[in-house]
Amino acid sequence: MNVLIMGPPGAGKGTQAEKIVQEFGIPHISTGDAFRLAMKEGTELGQKAKAFVDQGLLVPDEITNGIVKERLALADCEKGFLLDGFPRTIQQAETLDGILQELGKKIDHVVDLKVDRGFLLARLTGRRLCKTCGATYHVMFNPPQMEGICDKDGEELYQRSDDTEAKVGTRLDEYTSKTAPLLAYYSEKGLLREVNGEKDIDAVTIDIISCLRGSL
Ligand SMILES: [Zn+2]
Repeated sequence: MNVLIMGPPGAGKGTQAEKIVQEFGIPHISTGDAFRLAMKEGTELGQKAKAFVDQGLLVPDEITNGIVKERLALADCEKGFLLDGFPRTIQQAETLDGILQELGKKIDHVVDLKVDRGFLLARLTGRRLCKTCGATYHVMFNPPQMEGICDKDGEELYQRSDDTEAKVGTRLDEYTSKTAPLLAYYSEKGLLREVNGEKDIDAVTIDIISCLRGSL
C-alpha cells in the first residue's frame, strides 16, 4: 500500500505518519531522510545534493526527484511506503507519477489531515518554552502549574518568534495556497482521503487506519 500524507503545520502529521508506518510495516519516507541516506551512502545523486547543501544552496528539483526515485526503488518499499513532505507542487506530483510508473508502482491513497485554521492557530501560538532547560508547554493543552513559569526550574517561559499569530498565520496561508492545487490533483484521481485531524491523536489514527483498510 503506497500512501502519501498531507496536512498543515500543527496538524500532527509527523505523529500520525509514525503510527501509520507502525501499523502497516512500511517505511516512512521524507525527502529529508532520503537526502541524508543518499549522502551517507555516497550515491552519485547524494554527492551532487551534498555539494549544494554544503554551499547552503537549494537542491535542484532534478536531484531531489532522482533521490526520491532511488529511495522508492529500495527493497523495503516492496510492501508499500508512506511518503511525507513530497510532492509539494503539481509539477513534483506529475514527476512522482512518472517515477512510480517506471517502478511499476502507484499511489493508492492520499491522506489529508483536515484541521480548522482557528484550531491550528490556537495550537501553534500556545506553545511556550523554558529559557533555561528547553522544556515545552502549551497554554491550553499542557499548561505549567504557574502561568509563565517552568515547572522544572522556576525559570521564565517564552514564546518563539515563529509562534506569534502573525507568523503562524502566514505559514498557514502559504501552506493552503501551495497545497490547494495538489489536493485538487489527487481528488480528481479519486485518491484523496480526508480525515478529521481535530480529534485526539489516537482517534485520528483509528480513523486513518480504518480509512486505509476500508478502501483496500
Ligand atoms: Zn525549565
